[in-house]
Amino acid sequence: MKGLKGKTALITGATSGIGQAIAIRLAQEGCHVAINYRRNPESAEDTQTQAMEKACHQMEDCGVRSLIVQGDVSQEVDIIKMVETTIEKLGSLDILINNAGIQTESPSHEVETADFDRVLNVNLRGAFLCARETIKHLLATNRPGVIINISSVHEIIPRPFYASYSISKGGMGNLTKTLALEYAQQGIRVNGIAPGATVTPINDDWTNDPEKRAVVESHIPMGRAGTTEEMAAAVAFLASDEAAYITGQTLFIDGGLTLYADFREAWSA
Ligand code: NAD
Repeated sequence: MKGLKGKTALITGATSGIGQAIAIRLAQEGCHVAINYRRNPESAEDTQTQAMEKACHQMEDCGVRSLIVQGDVSQEVDIIKMVETTIEKLGSLDILINNAGIQTESPSHEVETADFDRVLNVNLRGAFLCARETIKHLLATNRPGVIINISSVHEIIPRPFYASYSISKGGMGNLTKTLALEYAQQGIRVNGIAPGATVTPINDDWTNDPEKRAVVESHIPMGRAGTTEEMAAAVAFLASDEAAYITGQTLFIDGGLTLYADFREAWSA
């Protein structure tokens, strides 16, 4: 895609699921990729191997560089170091993908404060601080840039028993719009994608159980869960110059989940 070759992208939580697919796809498009992991360097190496294989098609040196960078996005010091290391080792930072995310389930009246804080700290505060550090670099070096927030259909669909997750993704939608408006004149585009039900480890409880999976998929107008590659394709588009005039938007990639499927048939005949 136009404008991706030679750019540097940092992807948080890139050792599995959607983040891993994004790292691989961006490398395939010719981006240098910084693969963030929190505590599993082996999975980060696996992502790196797959990304470089896609990027180079067995060539020894295709010009694409990659980096594994440790950091917990709920920790400000880690974020500052992660962004610094990326710039130092890969030369710049043009594209930030705020992908790291967690969820916890509990009736809202029983939620532990520490659990609530943990989800908000990773999903929303972490995304903001990663964006802040990236924007500092873009402004200091007077370069355009792209930030993409991996949100969720729960940016707009309330999710009972997952209040902290819903709140974090609702906040992420506003984060996308606010930063997009604040930095539009500096050439920094900020967008989001909102995946629907996607086959990744976060959904192991139903993706690995055919009966549960059928129930989940029965709620999706297109009748199936999404793939990580489908999410990564949209991210590559939004990060590329093909999307040069798009900012402040969240693209819902959900097989129709946000289309109010109950309206498929008339409620009264
Ligand atoms: P996943 O569990 O495979 O990926 C989440 C990643 O975040 C993991 O690699 C994990 O190690 C990393 N992570 C968690 N806490 C971290 C921290 N403190 N610091 C750094 N990394 C951390 O699940 P996924 O489905 O690929 O999720 C990726 C993103 O997509 C999340 O933001 C999630 O909310 C969003 N999403 C997923 C779905 C879905 O159905 N899978 C739907 C909507 C949105």
